[in-house]
Amino acid sequence: MTQDAQKIRLILELRQAGITNTEILAAMERVPRDRFVPKAFGDRAYDGMALPIGHGQTISQPVVVARMIAALHLNDRIKVLEIGAGSGYQTAILSYLSRRVYAIERHRDLLLGAQKLLDEMRCYNVTAVVGDGTLGWPDQAPFERIIVSAAAPEIPTVLTDQLAEGGVMVIPVGDQRRDQMIMRVTRRDGEIHTEDLWPVRFLPLVPGRPEAEGGDASSSERTFGQ
Ligand code: SAH
Repeated sequence: MTQDAQKIRLILELRQAGITNTEILAAMERVPRDRFVPKAFGDRAYDGMALPIGHGQTISQPVVVARMIAALHLNDRIKVLEIGAGSGYQTAILSYLSRRVYAIERHRDLLLGAQKLLDEMRCYNVTAVVGDGTLGWPDQAPFERIIVSAAAPEIPTVLTDQLAEGGVMVIPVGDQRRDQMIMRVTRRDGEIHTEDLWPVRFLPLVPGRPEAEGGDASSSERTFGQ
């Protein structure tokens, strides 16, 4: 089967899994997931699984990406903060479905790879940086949407503080031992409302200084005020 045919099969599988939003399906059809996985996994890129991307991290399962994005309710007027950009796969999909994406990743190598692919795909509405996403991005806040791709032990108030009025955050919450839950957090009339969406298993959100593989990360590390 060609990669195009495999991609179409993946889109059908997403439909069968209950993803009905045609804009999300079209955006996912536009993104070549095979480019976002290491070459060794190229032939499994459309199998619908999470796959290793290095540094002990994984590219998320397409169905999880689709469900989390569906839960965000995006449109092309919205500014999104993405935490844990990893390969950049979900970043590219967010780029097609929103006005502007601010993406943070703590592994410099992954961020550089993601930036290269996002440039090649002309996702010019994305600003992606190395940084600690647990701090959010105060200079660009508030955000209408926040999507977190790694599990936090509890809902981070630093991030809810950066949600705009009417804003929505979708985030896996829970530690590695217990079952984690995808939660939707909404700021309405200044109050924070939370909903449990479905159980998941994500890698942990790691606070603290970003990983500076292969040298000095400061060149692409986020500096607030720029
Ligand atoms: N959605 C991405 C990757 C998910 S894996 C994809 O599909 O490729 C989770 C990612 O979160 C990893 O790349 C990990 O390095 C990153 N991460 C973990 N803690 C982080 C933090 N505090 N700030 C930014 N990124 C973080």
